[in-house]
Amino acid sequence: SSAAVKSEVAVEEKGTDEYDNDKDDKAAQSLLNKLIRNNLVNNTNQVEVLQRDPNSPLYSVKSFEELRLKPQLLQGVYGLGFNRPSKIQETALPMMLAEPPQNLIAQSQSGTGKTAAFVLAMLSHVDPNKRYPQCLCVSPTYELALQTGKVIELMGKHYPEVRLVYAIRGNKLQRGMKLEEQIVIGTPGTMLDWCGKFKFIDPKKIMVFVLDEADVMIATQGHQDQSIRIQRMLPKNCQMLLFSATFEETVWNFAQRIVPEPNIIKLKREEETLDTIKQYYVLCNSREEKFQALCNIYGAITIAQAMIFCHTRKTAGWLAGELSREGHQVALLSGEMQVEQRAAVIDRFRDGKEKVLVTTNVCARGIDVEQVSVVINFDLPVDKDGNPDNETYLHRIGRTGRFGKRGLAINMVDSKMSMNILNRIQEHFSKKIERLDTDDLDEIE
Ligand code: ADP
Repeated sequence: SSAAVKSEVAVEEKGTDEYDNDKDDKAAQSLLNKLIRNNLVNNTNQVEVLQRDPNSPLYSVKSFEELRLKPQLLQGVYGLGFNRPSKIQETALPMMLAEPPQNLIAQSQSGTGKTAAFVLAMLSHVDPNKRYPQCLCVSPTYELALQTGKVIELMGKHYPEVRLVYAIRGNKLQRGMKLEEQIVIGTPGTMLDWCGKFKFIDPKKIMVFVLDEADVMIATQGHQDQSIRIQRMLPKNCQMLLFSATFEETVWNFAQRIVPEPNIIKLKREEETLDTIKQYYVLCNSREEKFQALCNIYGAITIAQAMIFCHTRKTAGWLAGELSREGHQVALLSGEMQVEQRAAVIDRFRDGKEKVLVTTNVCARGIDVEQVSVVINFDLPVDKDGNPDNETYLHRIGRTGRFGKRGLAINMVDSKMSMNILNRIQEHFSKKIERLDTDDLDEIE
């Protein structure tokens, strides 16, 4: 019965290292997104703006010229290939560059231009003639801090007088020294020590405080507290800026403690839809049959690139092996790989070097590989209790609004339990998933 199978899954689920860790931290996911992202995400939603002073005019810019940036910075912006401000930058930049400085809480999904925005704000505000820290930026991890540091270096390429230092564990400074760099970027613990215990930084001289990835930050024990303690050392007129990709209640509460009297900007995620997707399922009895069905599909239709999702690392590894034996160029993505390795695999796949990407469920969460037109659920997405994971299903095969190309999704069903899950997914989205007979494949092309 399906209940028995379900409990079997639950037991199997506990055998840990076969499965990619669900909590596989937010920081790793965020880093992965940064490593693979090379342009802005499309978003057709309107930004919502809540002004601190509703009577003050709301500026929004359509070009970088309107911001009257220092020429060196404008050169940096164009050097990065930016032609015009992103949606969130249109309002966030004038607010951050206003005189007197305004505080800001901004939320939008990753890839919408937040980092570029606050980097530009920091670079605009520093006085390169003053040889002491004027901007602090805290990030949840060393790797994320490095990524932001790279953006500062690229955007500040033509402004070499401005210097940058990393406040990260392992970067040991001599007791009693004073930093001369204008921008300090680092993790909360070290930043706090450098401001407080070691006094490498005089917090009273800080003009801009940036807290990036607030949602990732609060997921780590202690970071919230450390950030608040840093914030309390800063002068009252210091500009406080906070960014987050998501905005749950806990993030919001934290944000309000970090940023007094904030302006608030929000950009909703683009909704995903199944409307432009043809969904099918294939009935099989075993993993081997599923593989055979997959081969039949490959034999019958031309698949430029496909992503194939499996439940466990073991299945993913096995399937990748079988597919290679069949002569496919296969890329395998799984959770035991380092973030950088994963990014490299995704990059190669995006460049078309491999035509098939086999991956575990968890590993590929939050990754968008836009051009993939065929998605195969070798195993259906389920949560840890064995219930259908509708959100993951949608994210995997759904397309965003008008930008989405048409797509094809094929679900492999191999038991009563997975049939039941498929039915529940179908009901949830009120969208028919058609049966596909892999011995007679004329219909899908
Ligand atoms: P976020 O911090 O919201 O994740 P980023 O600032 O990292 O977003 O921007 C996402 C990607 O888009 C990066 O590759 C960045 O270089 C690029 N980008 C940012 N702003 C612009 C812009 N105005 N025009 C073109 N590309 C941009």
